[in-house]
Amino acid sequence: MSMLLKTILNYTLDFKCFVFKKIVLLESNETPRLEIEVAPRKRSKGICSGCKNKAPGYDTLQVRRFEHIPMWGISVFFIYAPRRLNCPQCGIRVEELPWGNGKRPLTNQYADFLSHWAKRMSWKEVAEAFHTSWHKVFISCRLAVEWGREHMNLDNIHSIGIDEVLWHRGKKFITLVYQIDSHCKRLLWIGIGRTKATLRDFFKWLGTEKTAALKYVCSDLLMSYLKVVQEEAPQATHVLDRFHTVQMIQKAIEKIRAEEARELKADGKKELLTKTRWVILKKPENLTQKQGERLETLLKQNLKTVKGYLLKEDFKRLWDYISPYWAGKFIDRWTRKVMYSKIEPLKKVARTMREYKPLILNYFKAKKNISQGIVEGFNNKLKLTFKRSYGFRTFEATEIQLYHTLGGLPCQKFTHKFF
Ligand SMILES: [Zn+2]
Repeated sequence: MSMLLKTILNYTLDFKCFVFKKIVLLESNETPRLEIEVAPRKRSKGICSGCKNKAPGYDTLQVRRFEHIPMWGISVFFIYAPRRLNCPQCGIRVEELPWGNGKRPLTNQYADFLSHWAKRMSWKEVAEAFHTSWHKVFISCRLAVEWGREHMNLDNIHSIGIDEVLWHRGKKFITLVYQIDSHCKRLLWIGIGRTKATLRDFFKWLGTEKTAALKYVCSDLLMSYLKVVQEEAPQATHVLDRFHTVQMIQKAIEKIRAEEARELKADGKKELLTKTRWVILKKPENLTQKQGERLETLLKQNLKTVKGYLLKEDFKRLWDYISPYWAGKFIDRWTRKVMYSKIEPLKKVARTMREYKPLILNYFKAKKNISQGIVEGFNNKLKLTFKRSYGFRTFEATEIQLYHTLGGLPCQKFTHKFF
């Protein structure tokens, strides 16, 4: 039995200078476990963790346990006492271990295995599925992210999208920068806040040379973003993307509805707008039958909300235009209609659109070069990730999870694939 296990271990792991010794199955605990003693191969010198050269032994540290990938629902631990070496170059150093860092309580292979599943499940679920702790899943993902960020390729980044979202139960903003080229879409960078300093940190990270290669930058109209992009990447075309343009109108509609609902309530006619929030925010084609019927009766009312809704729907035709010139004409007509409507929140949107019309028209100029709807897609994935990671208190955990799931990071290769 133990011979066959050793054969499997040697088949899946490439520990040239180490051998597997005694294997015991402990059944007393809640989760049964295999303890596998590991020892250095006879007469083999240790490898210095500093310079990666062979070095003579100095002493041996206490026995440590390293958690490895479970088999048949049985936890697996390697038991090993790391040697300290007397390296002529580095002095007294702990030896290099083929399964990982002497301080980390799990093997590289197990960390890779856990981080693989953490892309598909929440960290809590991964911990439960493999009878391990949340913390071990966390350090596994951190390891994968650190390795991936170190080895990621930053060549050929031409288009980026900047987005800001609320984090920490809606209390703090974080800024996210995505690569949105048609050949590569991924989360590039995350920072706390949405100030000028935040975005400057991103450009610092990207470096002067790569920044100079940027052709398109998409973002909403946040002043701090507009200014910093202008300073750092003046050669790039700044685009107010579709997602953020629509979001601007959506927010105005929500405001109109909320205000009008308050007025109607005061007049004792609150039923006119009850249960209409999603009806007017959702795309008509996504409404349930009941919501569709609600919309029909709502549209018969003479309400500001209805007028606003119709203007919002009318605005959608903008995205069918190909030529920036005709798109511009459409914006002129639409904003004129809005100014006549006397609905204040929408008038504010119209004024902003007039002021930043070139940025919206840049969308039509850049259309072929940037991936459509990608910022919105990432924004949705982000919300899903936040939902899954509810209760993450630290920014570090959030950051690692986002890089891990959305960063498209390269992975370390191992001799055997465990999943
Ligand atoms: Zn050394």
